[in-house]
Amino acid sequence: MSSTELLVIGNWKMNGSRAALADFARAFSGVSIGCDAGLCVPFTLLAAAQSALLGTELRWGAQDCSEEAEGAFTGDVSAAMIAECRASYVIVGHAERRRVHAESEGQVANKVQRVLACGMTPIVCIGESSEERDANQTKAVLRRQLMQVIRALNHDIRSVVIAYEPLWAIGRGQIASPGLIEEAHGFIADAITFNAKHTAHGVRIIYGGSVTPGNAAAVFTRRLVGGALVGGASLRAEDFMAICHAAATCAQQRLAAWTQ
Ligand code: PEP
Repeated sequence: MSSTELLVIGNWKMNGSRAALADFARAFSGVSIGCDAGLCVPFTLLAAAQSALLGTELRWGAQDCSEEAEGAFTGDVSAAMIAECRASYVIVGHAERRRVHAESEGQVANKVQRVLACGMTPIVCIGESSEERDANQTKAVLRRQLMQVIRALNHDIRSVVIAYEPLWAIGRGQIASPGLIEEAHGFIADAITFNAKHTAHGVRIIYGGSVTPGNAAAVFTRRLVGGALVGGASLRAEDFMAICHAAATCAQQRLAAWTQ
């Protein structure tokens, strides 16, 4: 991404409440965050997020959507319904959806198209399991997951955010090392540049997996890291705010380095 601004997205998973949203509204009201930031909440909280966060710089979004536009799909929620709540983001292909709900790469690509068609930004999660890493399959997995999206979007993914989330780092308190994050982001950026119609500069690549206020700065200062997808540490306004501040500080440092 050519912009120095970082992106911090909270993934509340199946957590949160209207009271928690009210906490965030209080904490972020009148605060200039210094980065792009949003909370991806459960579907039932989308309308509440719309009213609670409207007066803040925080945006909001969902954690999934249907791959269908509308119709007889009991229990599903379409991208258009999410967009009606003025959502900005939809997480697509999170590891927990791929694993627990056996979502295929084709379904992920369909969902990405639905989200874009409704004017929102898909945050596409890709990442390897520990078994795949041990078997030296990390690059093959990342390439396969990425290529499905690149092909589905006719080789232009500038409207998509890619979240690199190694499965073994999600929700475990075990963050990937900064060197490993940089290596994976470098590989993803190269894969985009070689396979898309544009370079990787047009695409935000963010990291996810056990990011906390304590380690966020070390993640953000790595080359090619455009932000973070944050699970557990996005549930408390204070922690999420601290991560946003780390992103803002890093962006200022990058800008200073470039303008020297
Ligand atoms: C996630 O769910 O996308 C995630 C990164 O979770 P955590 O930050 O808790 O590891």
